[in-house]
Amino acid sequence: MRLAGMVAVITGTGSGIGRASALRFAAEGAAVVCADIRADANDEAAELVRSAGGQATAITVDVTDDASVVGLFAGAEREYGRVDVVFNNAGVMLDSDGDAVDVDLATIERTLAINVTGVLLGCKHGVPALRRAGGGAIVNTASFVASVGAATPQVAYTASKGAVLALTRELAVVHAREGIRVNALSPGPLRTELLMSFLDTEDKQQRRLVHVPMGRFGEAEEMAGAAVFLASPDASYVTGANLAVDGGLTAAYVTPE
Ligand code: NAD
Repeated sequence: MRLAGMVAVITGTGSGIGRASALRFAAEGAAVVCADIRADANDEAAELVRSAGGQATAITVDVTDDASVVGLFAGAEREYGRVDVVFNNAGVMLDSDGDAVDVDLATIERTLAINVTGVLLGCKHGVPALRRAGGGAIVNTASFVASVGAATPQVAYTASKGAVLALTRELAVVHAREGIRVNALSPGPLRTELLMSFLDTEDKQQRRLVHVPMGRFGEAEEMAGAAVFLASPDASYVTGANLAVDGGLTAAYVTPE
């Protein structure tokens, strides 16, 4: 087991990558603190982990709210005594997102609040917890759109993910000598609720797959596996990296037929 004896705080565990990661981190031996704004879905995630034989507790959190995130780490330390891994994964892509002309201010502000402020608050309150544990790892979920442009515009989301990459690099450098590693995970297009509700026809899905050399959507479990690597001692010399887990999307100029 690659995370034996470790305690991991994971945000966005209500569904998708976060939920798959809660299950996988626990299977790798970590005690998992599930953190999501949707209390029922979050409780269900912790229950799923426990019924699979793992250790988990659920704490309802709004990652945009400072006091709520303070409470998350206090609760994690109260329950398990330490925090070794912070996986800042909660994020949104709003239907009202669009190009720079069409997107409205409320969409920009809400996207940045969850995807950027949320990740920053997870780091702000996660770093002191990791220091108390004598070091640890932070994994921040970015996206392939932070690295390559898309013709289907979602500019607030794209801007937010670029910020996640930039802040990840800075934190990696600042905290490197305290034994705190900070890395980004950049998923490609996945078969999760978030993307499938956006690509809601077969035609839209096929148009997206044209850009993926592997010719298929990724699965949340494949992101969980990559996050385990970044969180684990196997990545002990990896910090400030952006791990693309995208079926080759960001490597491609022309994809095979
Ligand atoms: P998802 O919608 O399935 O899960 C996101 C979770 O975040 C939900 O359970 C939601 O309740 C939670 N959340 C939203 N706002 C919150 C808040 N304020 N506080 C706490 N929790 C909150 O999405 P997913 O596909 O699993 O995405 C997870 C991450 O991966 C996101 O950061 C997303 O941007 C990124 N990502 C997803 C894809 C994809 O194709 N699905 C691709 C690239 C990047």
